[in-house]
Amino acid sequence: MENYHELLKKQHAFFKGGQTKDVQFRINTLNKLKDLVQTHAQDVLDAVKADLNKPEVEAKRAEVGLVIGEIDYMVENLAAWAEPKEVETPAMLEGAKSFILPEPYGAALVIAPWNYPFQLAMNPLVGAIAAGNTAVLKPSELTPRTSSLLATLINDNFPEEYLRVVEGEVETSTALLNEKFDYVFFTGSTGVGKIVAQAAAKHLTPVTLELGGKSPTIVHKDANLDETAARIARGKFANAGQTCVAPDYVLAHRSVKDELIKKLQEVITATYGEDVTKNLDFPHVVSDRHFDRLHGFLDNGDLAVGGQSDRDRLFIEPTVLDNISFEDAVMQDEIFGPILPVIVYDELSEVIDEVTKRPKPLALYIFSEDEDVQNEILHNISFGGGSINDTITHMTTHYLPFGGVGESGMGAYHGKASFDTFSHFKSILNRPTK
Ligand code: NAD
Repeated sequence: MENYHELLKKQHAFFKGGQTKDVQFRINTLNKLKDLVQTHAQDVLDAVKADLNKPEVEAKRAEVGLVIGEIDYMVENLAAWAEPKEVETPAMLEGAKSFILPEPYGAALVIAPWNYPFQLAMNPLVGAIAAGNTAVLKPSELTPRTSSLLATLINDNFPEEYLRVVEGEVETSTALLNEKFDYVFFTGSTGVGKIVAQAAAKHLTPVTLELGGKSPTIVHKDANLDETAARIARGKFANAGQTCVAPDYVLAHRSVKDELIKKLQEVITATYGEDVTKNLDFPHVVSDRHFDRLHGFLDNGDLAVGGQSDRDRLFIEPTVLDNISFEDAVMQDEIFGPILPVIVYDELSEVIDEVTKRPKPLALYIFSEDEDVQNEILHNISFGGGSINDTITHMTTHYLPFGGVGESGMGAYHGKASFDTFSHFKSILNRPTK
């Protein structure tokens, strides 16, 4: 197992030198990073095409666009965020002043997953830089072209004592986690999140865990079914369902379930063609193991839409399964693929009971025009974040902190939340002697 002690020692020494505390230095770094992303945008699109067959339009938006948007927002705001904030002081401490001073933690470790292999590696890195940290990034081994591009972009353009990409598999993560970083930011599965949290606990290193889970999508009887079907299909089948906030399953009111499935069929045909097997642009499942796991779900319930697959090219077409119950295999773990099970309900209380019995989801989506229905769900189910009458878009805005709760994670990032995540807020009371 490689030893990353020396690398971390160099990063700590660089941090101690104080350059990263200079706000202009951070802004310059972010601008340089933006230039690199723009200059190499086509390389990013090619890499995610090679790794996941991700279509260019999707990758332009979700891999390149979101990173550039995040950098721009940081550059615009970070000087203000980095200022000390004066707060009130109680009367009994007359004459004193109080303020809160954000400071970077030091050396941050970022471990990234494969499903948006560029964006989910870069955006935490952007947060670490904006807050003034040095960083080591470990991308996913399952998307080797993107990992190697990240390594080239960062390692050829920044000194290792400031920013370093380390490629590798589990042993590499384990070796990195043995070191005493000052912050660990992990995106990936709940199971590995527990391993990361335990490793960080040995050093009492604070962590952010951006994990997964089964995100329910509730379609109530009054939902606008045309928009509902379009917005569910877009969120579910983008990246072949391999999106942490993809609608995992639908809970449809009995009175609208059949009509919803009919409209899902229409929208899938309109988006991907009559025969999706001929659509060579549809993203692949990431590996044989994931293909086999997903393929095993295709006989659950009744096949309502799709169901065809091709193991040679790791292809599974957009599929909707009808007559599913919570006991089916497809309902036991996060699906993370283009398979959408539909379960019916009669009363909203059933939805609340069933969802709250299970691990707290990363996302939840409500399709209903009725504010009382929306509020009943919002106030009775705990979940990371979500949308009303839409799917996945809540994670595309840097004005909303993004993160999970319970088994779907802890902490949040994006925009100001990223700056806060990678900063320690030092509270100071200044009491003059005169
Ligand atoms: P994963 O947990 O298998 O791997 C994530 C990273 O951890 C990779 O870099 C991997 O090399 C590393 N890793 C794997 N095993 C490890 C171990 N034992 N010790 C230390 N590091 C280890 O996750 P994945 O398959 O890459 O990604 C899919 C999962 O990530 C899904 O559950 C998905 O919901 C979740 N996810 C969450 C978000 C979010 O923002 N909340 C975003 C994307 C993906």
